[in-house]
Amino acid sequence: MTEQLEPMPSDWQRALAVVAHPDDLEYGCSAAVAGWTDGGREVTYLLATRGEAGIDTIAPHECAPLREREQRASAAAVGVRAVEFLDHRDGVIEYGTALRRDIAAAIRRHRPELLITLNHRDTWGGVAWNTPDHRAVGRAALDAAGDAGNRWIFPELAEQGLHPWDGVRWVAVAGTDRPTHAVDATAGFERSVQSLLAHRTYIEVLTDEDPEAYCRTFLSGATGASAERFGGRPAVAFEVFAR
Ligand SMILES: [Zn+2]
Repeated sequence: MTEQLEPMPSDWQRALAVVAHPDDLEYGCSAAVAGWTDGGREVTYLLATRGEAGIDTIAPHECAPLREREQRASAAAVGVRAVEFLDHRDGVIEYGTALRRDIAAAIRRHRPELLITLNHRDTWGGVAWNTPDHRAVGRAALDAAGDAGNRWIFPELAEQGLHPWDGVRWVAVAGTDRPTHAVDATAGFERSVQSLLAHRTYIEVLTDEDPEAYCRTFLSGATGASAERFGGRPAVAFEVFAR
């Protein structure tokens, strides 16, 4: 029998999701977010870029505000009101102390117990090469959970009134090929379709398919793939690193 995924920890109140681009959370994760916000939990989105290099036919200066708007609508569809952008440059995000500092600052501001990010490894499932932005942001988020709690790393943050927060108990990585935990996607599924569909400009360029059919097919495939390891229930899977 395939090893079953554990239910995600539920004894927390605040989560911060840190990803590189608009749409990163909507390709698979947002059904879990809808379930969490239903339960009265606070979820904040932090995006390293505005996804301005994501659409070949639209120049970055026009693309950035458009994708920001779509991301805010997308977040609202699953009950997330706070969406912040770090304004690193799309496509060339550098892993390093500047990125770790920006994420650590956000962790200190929002004081989450759960940090969420996207696949930080080289590949998707050992098959497709991951993008440098996803690798950089995923790794920096994992590292920043520790940075945020240490007053001697980035002491300039404390001078700005951002005092250490060592309360991140788990970092949950979505889109991983080594999942350990999962969240039932049933209740949040329809809203997750709407959240992905909110990235309409991006999706219309990506596919000739009807956008809603495309979103529904993608997300039911993704949540269905985890079902056999989660008691037959469609699920959003995460690799959870405990701290
Ligand atoms: Zn992305």
